[in-house]
Amino acid sequence: MIAPRLAAPTLALIALFASGASAAADCAVTVDSTDQMTFSTHSLAVPKSCKTFSVTLTHSGSLPKNVMGHNLVISTASDQPSVVSDGMASGLANDYLKVGDSRVIAHTKVLGAGESDTLTLDVAALKEGESYQFYCTVPGHISMMLGDVKRVD
Ligand code: ZN
Repeated sequence: MIAPRLAAPTLALIALFASGASAAADCAVTVDSTDQMTFSTHSLAVPKSCKTFSVTLTHSGSLPKNVMGHNLVISTASDQPSVVSDGMASGLANDYLKVGDSRVIAHTKVLGAGESDTLTLDVAALKEGESYQFYCTVPGHISMMLGDVKRVD
C-alpha cells in the first residue's frame, strides 16, 4: 500500500501561486468564472498608478461555451444595459457584443470551460467621477455576473 503524498505537492502549488501574484503587482488580476454563472469577485480595484491594467478571465467549470460561456466586458455603468441588449443579437460568433461597439472600453472573448483570455485596460481611459462596471454579455447572465470597477489610489 502506497500512502498518498498530498502535502508536498500542495505546498509547492501554493508557493507557485504566491510568487506569481507578487510578480504581477497590482496592475493585473485574474477573475474566475464558473458553471454556476458567477464571477469570483464583484469588484475590481484599478490603481491609478498603473498605466495599463490587465484582467485575465478563466473558466473553472466543465461546460462548453455554447452552454455556459462567459466573457468579461468593461464599460460605464450607464452604457451597460445597452451594451448587453445590443450584444444579445450579435451571437456567440461575435462574443455577444455589437461589432465595433465604441461603448465597450475593453473585453475578453467568450470562454468555455478550461479556457482563458486577458483584456488590457488603458487606465487613463477611466475618468474621475464616472462609474464603471464589468459584466458578462452572454444572454441571461447580467443579473448574476456584474461588478464594479473602481479607481483606487
Ligand atoms: Zn456569463
